[in-house]
This record gives sequence, structure tokens and C-alpha cells, in this order.
Amino acid sequence: MPELPEVETIVRDLSHLLPGARIGKVEVLRPDLIEGEAAEAFAKHLKGKRIRGVTRRAKNIVTDLGGERLLVNLGMTGRLLVARADEPDTGHLGVRIALDGGRELRYHDARRFGRLWIVGEEAWRAWDGELGVEPLSDDFTAEWLLQAAGRSRVAIKTWLMDQARVVGVGNIYASEGLFRAGVDPRRPAHSITAEEAPRIVEGVRRVLTDAIEHRGTTFLDYRDARGERGGFAARLQVYDQEGEPCPVCGAPLERIVQGGRSTFFCGACQT
Ligand SMILES: [Zn+2]
Repeated sequence: MPELPEVETIVRDLSHLLPGARIGKVEVLRPDLIEGEAAEAFAKHLKGKRIRGVTRRAKNIVTDLGGERLLVNLGMTGRLLVARADEPDTGHLGVRIALDGGRELRYHDARRFGRLWIVGEEAWRAWDGELGVEPLSDDFTAEWLLQAAGRSRVAIKTWLMDQARVVGVGNIYASEGLFRAGVDPRRPAHSITAEEAPRIVEGVRRVLTDAIEHRGTTFLDYRDARGERGGFAARLQVYDQEGEPCPVCGAPLERIVQGGRSTFFCGACQT
């Protein structure tokens, strides 16, 4: 499932490819992927618009159409690709958006948990306002974390994964970020001290930045035709490594379940 680094990787690629392109014919092959309006209305809505830019908000790809925005959430298995119009598609094609210059923007989704929708300025602001802080933005600071954690008794790992607080920190990156911070993932959020908060902020930022540099963990290995794992997978220090020696102290790494998700940590280093 794509997390923030994987979506950021796609957005950076698309932001080189799409700005300036004008949208031609739009074909919706899987109407259940479209939200907020009927597939036909969606297709008409997009036609003729010029793409101004591509950015990311949480785990969503935001295409600026000038006044309106096309939002794409990849769900579990979605892919948004630019292809030449004469290239055969790679299967599970859900939406085909013709661009000038003989190119197409294609949305593929095997399991169809992804979605595409268009928002105007007001709907955008409301949607954006409900999402938490971007962990790579200047708003994600130790001061913010201490204040937002307040009296929360939720375990810090589960707390970091709440999209209404911090966006895009999924299971892999929450475990890895807390390992780098040396903080026990079971600690209640309110117990985080002024000395630990900067380490958590730094740990989460570092692991996300590293993963973006290596073009993500999960997404690329999923689509890699050679069957190789994504560039960041080899750099994971604790995730999915129960029983392996901690890379810092050598103690066996532990696995627990928090909020229905596996957490990996070192019981010796993380206090
Ligand atoms: Zn350790």
C-alpha cells in the first residue's frame, strides 16, 4: 500500500511531466472509482482543462486545474502513470485521460480501493482543513507535538498514525521513526517529554526523507518488473524483523500488535 514516500515519489515524477498539458478526451472504464459525480459528468468536467501543477496532500495526488483540483487517492493498488497514447496499457485500467502531445494520464487499479474526485476552491479548503499536519512541513515541530499530544493516553505509535493529527505516517514509518528516536512505541502520547519530542520529529522526518530519496519502500517493489524490492526496503532497521538483532545494541527485535497493526521495536534501546 503506498504511503507518503511512495506518493511523494509519484508526485515528483508527475510534477515534471504534467504541468502545461491540456486535457482532451476522458474515458472512465471503471465508474466506481469516481466520487462526487457521475462518471460522464466527471469526464466532461475535466475535458479542456489545463494542468497547472501537481502536489501532494497526505497520501493524495493533487492536480491543480486552476480554480479546481483533481484529487487521486491510490487506495491499496492504484497507479497513476503517464504513457504515450499508442503504448498498450498494463492492465486494470480504470481511467484514461488524453493529454495534448500524444500522451495519456492513466489510472490503473487492480483492487479498486482508490478514488478520483474533483473539488472546487471551497470544498478543497474544507477537505484540506480536516487533515492533520504534514510531517515534512515546518508545522511539524517538537512544540506542536507536545501541545497536540496534550493528555492523550493513546500509545505514541498509534497517535502518530492518526491522519487527523499527522498525515501520511503509516505503519512502517511510525515503527522506524520511533526506533530512530529511541522512544518506546507503547508510551502514552502525553508522557513524551520536551527532550524526546524533537527526537521523534527528527526520527519521523529522517525516515520519510530517506525513503523518498530511495523512491519508497512498498510501491516500487510492487510494480518492479524484475521482482526486486523497493530501494528503501533494504534500509529498514526494525520493520518486519522480529527476532533479528537490533542494529544498535544487538538485542532481539520485538513485535507487538497495536491498534490491530504490527509494531516492531527494540525493547532495550527504546525507552
Ligand atoms: Zn537495541
